[in-house]
Order: sequence, then C-alpha cells, then structure tokens
Amino acid sequence: MEKTLSIIKPDGVRKKIIGSILNRFEISGFEIVNIKLIKLTKDEASTFYEMHKSKPFFENLVDFMTSGPCIPFVVEGQNSIKSVREMMGSTNPDDAASGTIRSDFADSIDSNIIHGSDSKESADREIAFFFE
Ligand code: UDP
Ligand code: MG
Repeated sequence: MEKTLSIIKPDGVRKKIIGSILNRFEISGFEIVNIKLIKLTKDEASTFYEMHKSKPFFENLVDFMTSGPCIPFVVEGQNSIKSVREMMGSTNPDDAASGTIRSDFADSIDSNIIHGSDSKESADREIAFFFE
C-alpha cells in the first residue's frame, strides 16, 4: 500500500469544500490515515516549496499558502501517488480534465485548491514534513 501527501490549500478551506474533497478520496477506495489543520508560516511554506524558489511565482505561492489555514493529509491505497495526481487534474484548472478537483473547484493556476506529491521521493519528504 502506497502513501502520498495531499493538501487542501487555503482557498479550499475558505470555500468550505474540505468535506467534498475528502469524500472524493474516500469513495474512490482510499484511506485518510493522517490529517490536521495548520496555518503555515512563511518559513514553512518556503521550505515546503523550496524546489520552486527560483520561479517567478514563488513569492506569490508562499503568500497564498500562508493566507489561511490549510489541511495536509495522508492518503493510503494502491497507486495513491498517481491516482491522487489524476484526481487533482492539471496545475492550471483551465487545462484540467472535467470531473477533476481542480476543474470542478479551482479559480486559477495560482489558486488551485489542492496539492499532491508528484513522486515516491516527494511523498516521503512531504509526509515527514507535516507528520514527523
Ligand atoms: N503555481 C503558480 N503559478 C504557476 C505555476 C505554479 O502559482 O505558474 C503554484 C500552484 O499553486 C501550483 C504550485 O505552484 O500548484 C506548485 O507548482 P507545480 O508546477 O509543482 O504544480 P502542481 O504539482 O501543484 O500541479
Ligand atoms: Mg508539484
């Protein structure tokens, strides 16, 4: 069984769609095996997204991720890393397949509701970041 780290970003909490998002994973057969509500500091958000430090959107991303509480959670199940990424949809909601979380709920590429680890290495690092 594989574990991955997802985050309902601050826009998802503000829109009151925590339950709707978690429900999608539950009805798809995945287990939520850890979860919390946390307001990240700028330092924490910068560290979490350190691979994007040189990108033009980095400062805006850190501001967004610290704009309110978010919900990191661990999803367990078969092929959870790939499945969660598929259920999220593309980074830009305009490109996201219909029926995906970003297509259904996200406003824009910089306010896109949900994070999901993109590899086994990322999942291990990100689960440890929030839960160890
Ligand atoms: N992001 C942004 N503008 C961009 C690209 C990315 O604000 O042009 C933000 C967005 O919140 C995205 C996050 O940075 O989810 C991480 O980017 P990545 O390319 O890793 O996308 P993801 O893996 O989240 O689909
Ligand atoms: Mg990414």
